[in-house]
Amino acid sequence: MTNIHVLKFGGTSMGDEDTWRRVLDIAARYEQLVIVVSATSRTTRQLLAAADTALDNYEESLEISSQIRSRHETLISRFLRHFDDYESTDARERCLNWIEKQVSDLNHHLKEIHEKKRINNARKDAVASIGEQLSSGLFATCGAVYGLNTTFVDARDIIKTDSDFGHANPDLQQIDEQVKKLTKQIEQHSIPVIGGYYGENDGGELTTLGFEGSDYTASLIGAALNCKAIEIWTDVSGIFTCDPRVVEDAVSIPEISFREATEMAYFGARVLHPSTLKPAAQKDIPVYVRNIFEPDHPGTKIYSKAESNGPVRALTFLEDVVIITVNAPSTLMGYHFLSNVFQTLERHHITVDIVTTTEASVSIALERPDKLELIISELEEIGEVTQTKQQGLISLIGFGLSNVESITNRVFSSIKGEPLSLISFSRDKRNLNLVLPEGDLLDTVRSIHHSLFSTEFSSEL
Ligand code: ADP
Ligand code: MG
Repeated sequence: MTNIHVLKFGGTSMGDEDTWRRVLDIAARYEQLVIVVSATSRTTRQLLAAADTALDNYEESLEISSQIRSRHETLISRFLRHFDDYESTDARERCLNWIEKQVSDLNHHLKEIHEKKRINNARKDAVASIGEQLSSGLFATCGAVYGLNTTFVDARDIIKTDSDFGHANPDLQQIDEQVKKLTKQIEQHSIPVIGGYYGENDGGELTTLGFEGSDYTASLIGAALNCKAIEIWTDVSGIFTCDPRVVEDAVSIPEISFREATEMAYFGARVLHPSTLKPAAQKDIPVYVRNIFEPDHPGTKIYSKAESNGPVRALTFLEDVVIITVNAPSTLMGYHFLSNVFQTLERHHITVDIVTTTEASVSIALERPDKLELIISELEEIGEVTQTKQQGLISLIGFGLSNVESITNRVFSSIKGEPLSLISFSRDKRNLNLVLPEGDLLDTVRSIHHSLFSTEFSSEL
């Protein structure tokens, strides 16, 4: 193991000149480190909107592009105005050139999109990554003015992937090889600053790792460097027992296992990208989730030996869930029927976790996919299909099996009166999933959270 820390800072941390200073003060606490940054907040969404708009309204797409430009220009001027020596004048010049370059790339793509009347996947990735290219280049330049040895590294030089645009898979072997460049820089006391979320395929085309993929970049780099710890810095002091924006009395969890944290991410906790922990877990590198606004709070430590044996670890929820039920035609044998259904879902990259099945029917609950209608029409070739939309999913993650009875009693008594649509319980994975109409979802989440975590009850578990 090396002594390197890989720190990732998300959109909020990249938001304005105040958060930039916070991030740099945090970075200054470490001896050997790599910084992975997301795009500044809202930028990725705006980039994708610009691309969509360009299809039929080129002028309006340029308008969005110029908003992105001016927001970044304002950010760096505000940051640099505190330094008025020669160095910052030079840095300002370099920052403005960098913004100019990225925006002119963007505008080139917008023009092509408008003229060809289509956005192919490769182009979509190229556009979507501009936010990280902007933030990493600017942040590295400004960090140097602040007095740190920050150096921009283009993520394409490190994160090598396949060509699955939009959710590319990393090539771990190549990444292992490429990170040696970082090691060399770190040995020379540089701090590499890398944009998260994007990489490059064998043909030199830009790819992205999927929505919120910056966490994943940090974990890939950390694992390849065999680093001491990966730290995901965000706007909350760790992983909470439930989303603190929804449940006021949620509390930060001091430690949690890789598996439990992955399940949380998978079942809706936005604080981590679901693939993030895999590379770290494989090399048993601890991952921390910490808060730039409360830098002395230890946050949450995620590591392998932290499996819960006690009460429920956390509660997550997902909105916009749909239940699809397929009924088998009487002519088809049970096992053929099931395998046909699952093959169809697999073709659409849908992993099924919540499923109830009989020989004659299968019901699955999933976050409503973009291609729902297409999937339904393919399933209709197998059997009769019904769908129930506007459902919510609540998941209880990580608990000791000896507590199951007491937990389920509490959960079911706190959802009294709510019509449950589907339930799945896994002893093995130690989770319990409830699907119910979306209407009262958040209230039900609060009430279950209260029944499980408020101090008056939790001592009984
Ligand atoms: P970043 O821009 O740093 O990547 P995100 O917005 O992706 O930040 O993630 C942080 C947010 O995740 C928090 O502000 C919080 O609202 C949300 N969140 C959802 N579930 C949880 C949870 N269980 N614990 C902590 N935060 C959560
Ligand atoms: Mg995030």
